[in-house]
Amino acid sequence: MIDTSKEYWTGDSADDIDEYLKEYSENSEIDVKPVICHKCGNDSFQLRVDQDEEAIQIKCVKCNTKKIILDCEEVWEDAQPRLRKCPICKTSKEFNLKVGFIRRENGNVKWVYIGNRCTNCGTLGSYLDWKINYEPTEEMENNI
Ligand SMILES: [Zn+2]
Ligand SMILES: [Zn+2]
Repeated sequence: MIDTSKEYWTGDSADDIDEYLKEYSENSEIDVKPVICHKCGNDSFQLRVDQDEEAIQIKCVKCNTKKIILDCEEVWEDAQPRLRKCPICKTSKEFNLKVGFIRRENGNVKWVYIGNRCTNCGTLGSYLDWKINYEPTEEMENNI
């Protein structure tokens, strides 16, 4: 359940990111996928993000597996990513993560949204979103 009573929305589980991204993207058709560690199944990560280059790398907090997700590998060399701390509770560096895809009529992805939830205080947010200007997008979509 999302709590909208505070200045920033909070959620008590990762699933609240789905609803948050619908509101944030103003698109109820957004296709939201969970990000789960392929090695250990954990769903909380440290995030290294460059908001200018639109790049994100995740690190599983349980097994330390790192992954540059979606199509961010292409810009990673030029990126200057910073490890993110929750701006609200200012203590946690752990987030649940989902990705939202807004699709074109032919099914390919037009816009990508990152949805994040601080595992400490529950604050929901979106560190990044970016436009996809190539097709097909299947390989990018599956790289989570
Ligand atoms: Zn893991
Ligand atoms: Zn927090």
